[in-house]
Amino acid sequence: MKYVALTIFPELLEAFWENGIMRRARADGIISPKAINIRDYAHGRHQVTDDRPYGGGCGMVMKPEPLAAAIREAKKTAPDAPVVMLSPEGRRFDQPLARQLAATGELIFICGRYEGIDERITEQFVDFEISIGDYVLTGGELPAMAVMDAVTRLLPGALGNENSADEDSFSDKRLDCGHYTRPPSFEERDVPEVLLTGNHELIAKWRRADALMRTLVRRPDLLREKPLDEAEKALLEKWQGEIEKLLYR
Ligand code: SAH
Repeated sequence: MKYVALTIFPELLEAFWENGIMRRARADGIISPKAINIRDYAHGRHQVTDDRPYGGGCGMVMKPEPLAAAIREAKKTAPDAPVVMLSPEGRRFDQPLARQLAATGELIFICGRYEGIDERITEQFVDFEISIGDYVLTGGELPAMAVMDAVTRLLPGALGNENSADEDSFSDKRLDCGHYTRPPSFEERDVPEVLLTGNHELIAKWRRADALMRTLVRRPDLLREKPLDEAEKALLEKWQGEIEKLLYR
């Protein structure tokens, strides 16, 4: 997967690519990331990348010429990549979109700063806009990293264990189950006993039930998005019985 990020702070992205799973994925050739400094494409002695907004008002706007030149440069490296603008106005990022992007092979990200970029760049070059949530950050670098992070862990080989990503929250409209590691007892809290039995069938059953319970309590909206299977229905009916006993006994 090729990533090209256009930014005025390339060091932020380099630090991100140089640690953890990103670093390993890069070393293994699973991702090949590159930051382009928009400032390198700005003219004049001061290499200015922003200017005052037409019509007045506060804040600055990223100038179109350096951005256009940087995008054209990025397209030399990744000619087939969709151009993604990080923006609070974009489509809300989620796991299905991460999966879609993981299938593309190449991505170009534009990280905005100030009040954003000149609208003509969006019209002429941007294929789609992505938002990471309904709040406003000072720049598109963190959102671009969030997207690259979520996409990278879906790429074959990136997590080491091929199955890890399949069991994560949202992969199937359900949250993940709880996770435990040693010691078996920590400050008087014990690991659920079934996890220590070594009985894989029972463990898988416990995990499915725990995932369902967590989804029911924290994100019932997800249960409506994907119909319940027979095992889930049976569990909910069992819990309903137990709740009714508590309430009406
Ligand atoms: N004036 C803009 C906000 C600009 S914030 C508005 O109100 O919509 C500066 C830059 O940060 C944006 O250009 C974008 O690249 C990035 N950014 C801020 N919040 C974001 C979010 N929730 N998702 C994605 N990008 C965001």
